Order: sequence, then C-alpha cells, then structure tokens
Amino acid sequence: NEVRRFSTAAALDEPITPPVLINYTQLLIDGKFVDSASGKTFPTLDPRTGEVIANVAEGDAEDIDRAVAAARKAFDEGPWPRMTAYERSRVLLKFADLVDKHSDDLAALETWNNGKPYEQAIKIELPGFTRLFRYYAGWADKIHGLTAPADGPYDVQILHEPIGVAGQIIPWNFPLVMFAWKVGPALATGNTIVLKSAEQTPLTALYAAKLLHEAGLPPGVLNIVSGYGPTAGAALASHMDVDKIAFTGSTSTGKIVQELAAKSNLKPVTLELGGKSPFIVCEDADVDRAVELAHFALFFNQGQCCAAGSRTFVHERVYDEFLEKAKARAQRRTVGDPFQKGIEQGPQIDSEQFEKILRYIKSGIESNATLECGGDKIGSKGYYIQPTVFSNVKDDMLIAQDEIFGPVQTILKFKELDEVIKRANTTRFGLAAGVFTKNIDTANTLTRALKAGTVWVNCYDVFDAAIPFGGYKMSGIGREKGLYSLHNYLQVKAVVTSLENPAWL
Ligand code: NAD
Repeated sequence: NEVRRFSTAAALDEPITPPVLINYTQLLIDGKFVDSASGKTFPTLDPRTGEVIANVAEGDAEDIDRAVAAARKAFDEGPWPRMTAYERSRVLLKFADLVDKHSDDLAALETWNNGKPYEQAIKIELPGFTRLFRYYAGWADKIHGLTAPADGPYDVQILHEPIGVAGQIIPWNFPLVMFAWKVGPALATGNTIVLKSAEQTPLTALYAAKLLHEAGLPPGVLNIVSGYGPTAGAALASHMDVDKIAFTGSTSTGKIVQELAAKSNLKPVTLELGGKSPFIVCEDADVDRAVELAHFALFFNQGQCCAAGSRTFVHERVYDEFLEKAKARAQRRTVGDPFQKGIEQGPQIDSEQFEKILRYIKSGIESNATLECGGDKIGSKGYYIQPTVFSNVKDDMLIAQDEIFGPVQTILKFKELDEVIKRANTTRFGLAAGVFTKNIDTANTLTRALKAGTVWVNCYDVFDAAIPFGGYKMSGIGREKGLYSLHNYLQVKAVVTSLENPAWL
C-alpha cells in the first residue's frame, strides 16, 4: 500500500477497480425505476480516467412533469403528510440504519463517480449523511405551531404545515451530503420531493432513494430525475405545480433559478451558492497548526468546496514562516487513485472544471503572483492537478476574487486587524470565514466584523447537523441544516377563532 505522491504520475495510469456494482441508472418516479420519456441516456464518467462508467436515463421537461405529478398526488392524496410525525420519523431512522449497512457500497460509488478519496467518503461523508437523517428524524415530532395573543375575543393558533411539493437541485461536489441536507428536512416536515441530481454525479442519489423506499417511504414522495440543468433543472424551477425550490450550486445558476421561480408561480427559493472565504492567520498563531488548518480549509475535497478557505490572509509577522511551511505541506499532499489508502486528493470532477482550474493558475502566473509549487496537471489520464500554492497575491487579482474550485491556495499578507477585516469583506460573496488566533478579543472582533454565514475559530469545515449553514450577500438566501432548514419547508397558517364566551379568557 505504497502512497502515491503527485511526482509519481505514472502510477495513476492503472486505476483500481472499484468494489461496487451500478444497479440503478433509471429515473425514479412514483416509486418505480423508469426510462426517460424520450428514451435518451447520458454517460456518467470516472474522473480518474474520463471513461464512461454507466449510461443513465436523461430526464427532461416531460419527465419533470411526470415526477411533479407523482409528488403532487402523493402530497394531496397520499399517506405521507397524513402519517403521524412519529411514523415519519421511524421511516427516516430505518433508512439511516439501512444506509449504515450499505455504506461501503455507497461510499465506493461516490468515489467512483466523483473522484473523492474513498477514506473521506466512508469516514466523513457517510457518517455525516446518516447523522443528518437521524437528526431530522428527531425533529419530525417536535415541529409544532404557536399561539398568539389577540386584542379581542379570539383564539389564535399558528399552524406549521408542510409546504407541498419541493423541487431540489443539487451539485456534484458532495452528492450524498447535498442529498441529505435537502431531503432530510423536507421529509421530516411531511413534504414530497422532486430532486434533480447533478449531471456529473447521478448514481448515489438513485441508490439512496431506493433504500428510502425499502425503509417504507410511500411511492411518489421522493422522485429522482437525473439530467442536465438547462433542461430538467430549469423545468423544475419553473414548474407551476412545485411549491418551493431549494438549490445549491454556482451563483450564476442560482440567479437563473430564482428568476425562473419568480416568473412562474413565485415559489419561495433557498439558494446555497459560491464563496471566496477568507482564512485569517493572526500574529499570535501557532504556525504549524495554522498551516495544517489552512491547508485543510482549502484542499479538502480537491478544493471543490463552496466554503473553501480560498483566500489565506497571513499576518506579516508570521508570513515568511507560514509560507515556507504551507508550501512544504502542499508538496507533501498525497495525490492519486482515490480508492488507495492514504490518498488525500483524487482527480477533479470533469474536464470542464479541470481546464477552468488550469486557466486560473495561468491567470495567477500572468498577474505576477508567485507560484510557490504545483501549477500543472498530473499524468495523461483523468483530471488530476498538482496541489498549487501562490504567494504574493493581491486583492485585485482574478485568483483572489473568483471561486477557483480547485487545489489552488492563494496567500495574502496583512498588517492590521482593521485592514484585514476590510479586505476579507471586500468580495461579493459571504459564505464562510476562518479565524486562527489564541487571543479572545481578536477572535470576538473578527467573528462579529466578518460578513459570512459561518465563522470557524481555530477549526474549519465543521458541518454538524444542528449547525445552520448558508451565505451572506451573493453566497445565497436562507439557511440549511439545524432548526432553520425546517422553516424552508413549512408554511405558516394563522387560525383565528372567535370565542363565544370571552368572560372565561
Ligand atoms: P451549476 O450551478 O451549474 O450546477 C449545479 C446544479 O444546477 C446542477 O444540478 C445543474 O444541473 C443545475 N443547473 C445548471 N443550470 C441550470 C439551470 N439553468 N436551471 C436549473 N438548474 C440548473 O454548477 P457547475 O456548472 O456544476 O459548476 C460551476 C461552478 O459552480 C463551479 O466551478 C463552482 O465554482 C460552483 N459550484 C458551487 C457549488 C456549491 O456548493 N456552492 C457546487 C458546485 C459548483
């Protein structure tokens, strides 16, 4: 089990055979696996090689219509919204147990289709997935309304009802985790769903949905339509019979989704979009720990994280030491076949992202940032990129402004706290931020001043089920996870009843 480093590119030429079969490639509509109405399929690829691993039914507007009709019927007539909350929670708990039994296969499929290290999928993402479903199973029978006082003889009940048919569109970077963040709260609150998976990674959503049916989910409650954004995704966002849309992906597509929702039936929209999150290393930092955390904040999941700490701000007093160690850490990063033990970084998702990242690296070099290490692709097959570090990065460079979504760390120097606050906030995004300091006053100042939906202090990427996540500014609308996500899927109804005998009030 020799660990392959990025310098030994030849080792990448023989990918390991994944230990899993692909059983589900059709659309899942009304509890049944079916072909797309057009009969069309699209290839899904192995990012390690770019080779086709399966052909998957390609849903478009007609399939979205079928799926929405099934979800509508299941909501209006089916048992799911009428079951007791306890019964719904039992289905979610049983599902989590089934996922535990199938976690090896689900993790292997996730790695095969996405390229993320198998160890990451099995140790972090599958446990996070089941934890989230158990968390929302716990909420199912604790969602209740309120009462309110009135200025007259009225009894006021504020009911929390499921919103109806939820449309959900998810990205390719965390296919299972995104499935959980969307499906968990929507089901716990009694809604029905049409989910469109990302065209790059359709496989695990189908597998997970199959297990949900085995756990007792009635037909039509969760429908999965694989397919492309401008066809299936747009049809879902603009559907007149969809009551709510939840989207995760790029800011530009988020704007389209919101527009489609507004132009159709004005359905409410939650958006979880891109970021350019600052990671701030203060002058008192333990440099070794700061380097490790900043490395993790950027390189985790091949750098393909919406919350990636993609602007590493380092105080001038520790800058030189930090830089030297950050470069050494990136050079030690193990890149290779994601099924191999000890591998930290697999391939990027596809040729489009791969080329885009290489273009950003070129732009960094051309704008006179200093390329400390990396900067190139690895091998001749698949989408591997060297862990790359730029220093001497300035705020107005493209690599400091755009979401690169790849293994490219950009390091910027700062001097004063006020200065770094201003620079960190000078971005159209506001998803997350990291702060590294031992000084409680510095930490408190930064956590209050940074305009971001999450601020991690001396940690990063802590995504527990109960912690809300979402963005300020152009990083999104609304929050997912935790208590907050329940409200995305609930309608509020005030019931005001005249009291016959106000004397007893
Ligand atoms: P994207 O936003 O285009 O895709 C996300 C989802 O939206 C996919 O399911 C896609 O099919 C769907 N979609 C695309 N066009 C649509 C449309 N017109 N109507 C409805 N749905 C549509 O993201 P991408 O092209 O896969 O990646 C591009 C960039 O987005 C990345 O480089 C990265 O910067 C960013 N991104 C961010 C996240 C995140 O978690 N915030 C995730 C993936 C990608």
